[in-house]
Amino acid sequence: MRARRVVVTGGAGFLGSHLCERLFREGAEVVCLDNFLTGSPRNVEHLAGPDAFRLVECDLTDPVHVPGEVDVVFHLASAASPVDYLRHPVETLRAGSLGTMHALDLARLKGARFVLASTSEVYGDPLEHPQREGYWGNVNPVGPRSVYDEAKRFSESLTTAYRGSYGTDTAIVRIFNTYGPRMRPCDGRAVPTFVSQALRGEPITVAGNGGQTRSLCYVDDTVEGILALARGEFAGPVNIGNPTELTVLALAETVRHLVGSESPIRFVGRPLDDPEVRRPDVSLAASVLGWRPRVEVIEGLRRTIAWFTRELSESGELIPR
Ligand code: NAD
Repeated sequence: MRARRVVVTGGAGFLGSHLCERLFREGAEVVCLDNFLTGSPRNVEHLAGPDAFRLVECDLTDPVHVPGEVDVVFHLASAASPVDYLRHPVETLRAGSLGTMHALDLARLKGARFVLASTSEVYGDPLEHPQREGYWGNVNPVGPRSVYDEAKRFSESLTTAYRGSYGTDTAIVRIFNTYGPRMRPCDGRAVPTFVSQALRGEPITVAGNGGQTRSLCYVDDTVEGILALARGEFAGPVNIGNPTELTVLALAETVRHLVGSESPIRFVGRPLDDPEVRRPDVSLAASVLGWRPRVEVIEGLRRTIAWFTRELSESGELIPR
């Protein structure tokens, strides 16, 4: 992506901020568009410079205008954690529908490549395991999670229609659970929840009996996969995730061990339509993009715990041991 001009929607969020940082370090000029619904300017404040990084507060559900040339539009703007999208159901549907249309219009106008950050949630509670790109999914269209799942399925459909009808150069990446620094402790996703609970010595809350599985990809690997897709011509959809599968209970125990915490595990109610299993088949990404995840879960968790320890200490939430 060297020395190119890119737009990142949702760039002030967790994943978007790492993508902006990586593009900025490679020498790209980055325009970051965000309404700060679930993100924060703080996530990208270290990138603020004279020209090469611009943060613009805007809502993608309104038409968007970016002056000058644009080579790639990365469309990440959407609430992503269940806590967030259940708190903002209509905003999530609007971001997935109107927001995606406006981001596509921008890419079409500029003749830019468009990369949609889709999700493994398009597979719903999958009946096929591991999940390959050819699997159509098992989504409850009126369940609580549908505001996110169906918004992303619509986004994929719209992206495909722009490619077919207007010849827009589009790509779809289906991102599986990603974790790392800059997740919010309260965003409800398993890693930030368990890490912050273990660091504070609070009970670690595991949903159900913890036997459901997740596959966790460290954020640097996910960003690398998104960039590999952006660099080429492949339209996707392509899965990006780490196929190492572990139960939620094993994750809680691993986090507790790595933190050196004595927090008890507390079993709590399981959310409706919570997927039973989740594991990507990443053979397409390996063959088409030459991509595979490199950061082992233990190493990724160590880096994440180190970041959360600093954050919670600085905010006075942790007493140094
Ligand atoms: P996040 O909530 O940290 O970031 C989303 C960003 O989008 C936030 O900064 C938010 O303020 C912004 N946003 C939301 N609605 C907007 C709107 N209408 N206009 C402008 N900005 C808006 O979430 P994340 O984990 O960084 O996820 C980023 C993207 O990646 C999302 O599209 C998500 O669906 C996708 N994704 C993430 C994961 C993951 O594990 N993190 C997995 C699959 C897909």
